[in-house]
Amino acid sequence: MYLLNPSVLGFCPICTLEYQFEDTISQLPCHENHILHEMCYGQLSAFNKTKGVKGHCPTCRAEIVPEGVLRKVLKATGKVDAPMEEPDRKLN
Ligand SMILES: [Zn+2]
Ligand SMILES: [Zn+2]
Repeated sequence: MYLLNPSVLGFCPICTLEYQFEDTISQLPCHENHILHEMCYGQLSAFNKTKGVKGHCPTCRAEIVPEGVLRKVLKATGKVDAPMEEPDRKLN
């Protein structure tokens, strides 16, 4: 199992909020990086249901096969590209 990195994924195409660690997301079957917040996917599929249409990926317009949607939680990969800078405590 691979881990998703929010900084690579960018932001949710539905609510345009950036993904954060520990976000629960729905990964679409069309591409591993085509994901939505789980809540946003729920809203999208509910909207499509009321319209009686099939869902499409907001990124590539591929038809969403609900059985292929994976629910995942974004986890830190353990490798941080830009480490937090330690405050300099040597001045004391
Ligand atoms: Zn969202
Ligand atoms: Zn897609």
